[in-house]
Amino acid sequence: MYDVNKIREDFPILSRTVYNKPLVYLDNAATTQKPLCVLDAMRNEYLNVNANVHRGVHYLSQQATDLHESAREKVRSFINAKSLSEVIFTRGTTESINLVAQTFCEAFMKEGDEVLVSDMEHHSNIVPWQLQAQKRGIVVRHLPITDDGLLDLSTLSSHLSSRTKLVSICHVSNVLGTVNPVKEIIRLAHEHDIPVLLDGAQSAPHMKIDVQDLDCDFYAFSGHKMYGPTGIGVLYGKEKLLEKMPPYQGGGEMIDKVSWEKTTFEQLPLKFEAGTPDYVATHGLATAIDYMLSLGLDNIEAHEQELTRYCMERMQEIENIRIFGPHLSPLNSHLSSHRDAVVSFLVGDIHHLDMGTLLDRLGIAVRTGHHCAHPLMTRLGVTGTVRASFALYNTKEEVDALIDGIHRVSKMF
Ligand code: PLP
Repeated sequence: MYDVNKIREDFPILSRTVYNKPLVYLDNAATTQKPLCVLDAMRNEYLNVNANVHRGVHYLSQQATDLHESAREKVRSFINAKSLSEVIFTRGTTESINLVAQTFCEAFMKEGDEVLVSDMEHHSNIVPWQLQAQKRGIVVRHLPITDDGLLDLSTLSSHLSSRTKLVSICHVSNVLGTVNPVKEIIRLAHEHDIPVLLDGAQSAPHMKIDVQDLDCDFYAFSGHKMYGPTGIGVLYGKEKLLEKMPPYQGGGEMIDKVSWEKTTFEQLPLKFEAGTPDYVATHGLATAIDYMLSLGLDNIEAHEQELTRYCMERMQEIENIRIFGPHLSPLNSHLSSHRDAVVSFLVGDIHHLDMGTLLDRLGIAVRTGHHCAHPLMTRLGVTGTVRASFALYNTKEEVDALIDGIHRVSKMF
């Protein structure tokens, strides 16, 4: 039994008010709130365990190392990676993709080689490749989307060539909510021996991820979007690729032996983890994963799907509303399985900023603007949208508050 009111008690921030109105927090795609267990775990570590990890002979250091490395094991089993060597801690999705962009290009790409992204990417899956384009002369190509906000797989093959060295796409769009048919994309890319990176920033919080079943070569995600702390994220990579990629940053932790003549590097995954890791945040992330697992990933997904469906249905009441992204029932199952917990919209010619600002005055937190996806905004022919995004603790009453709010704002214009 999924008791959302009980769950909300784990998130004290949800009972605060803003402008004397109950907070309705619908900006979860940007970041989620943190349950008490995560805050307690981190506070407890700082209070009772804190010491730098790895190589310490003393008790606290060993205890902190155990917590840090068991967090790696927690992540490994959460995404079903084959081995701990394949789980690299980073600052988040952005750093994970930058790591791949720099080191994969160094290892495998030369001038004229191509990386294929899509028209619905977040800037973090565009700009790192553009930086490599400037530096190495690689070419960034982008797969188009349909007017319904779907990737059309019929165009995929024509975008792959002998020069394509990597496909890098989002699993779920942070603007459209589209859940991309990534298994099919990976299968097609692998037919051409092309590895695939999935930007999982918007999928890891909402669905069971099995990197072996997906057969993706890289998978990147952020802790703060799944009830964990800020500043910690993960890069999963297949060992055979990571082995061939050079270190990302140099410093402590990532070396085997340093001399003036020659420096050798640590084994995976430490080769990619220079400097003191955020070992308290990794423990926080592991606690957040435990929290999600205790509620049940299927239950969370079903709850969020229900909210998304309810929100989109209720939005039909609003005159002149334009909802971006796929319809709820798949138009065409080979294009998209379903829509995730994100609803982007515009009402008539009300500017997204006006809508967001006025909703905020009613206590409703939504995100407005380009959502770090300028090329997608251009494709949609807008400067920005209003985006409501749901998490495991949101309720139908909050969706009702959003709909009432939109009605009220619409009447003002
Ligand atoms: N990719 C997608 C699809 C996102 O939605 C986001 C954040 O909104 C990112 C990447 C970047 O995540 P972070 O800022 O946590 O690195």
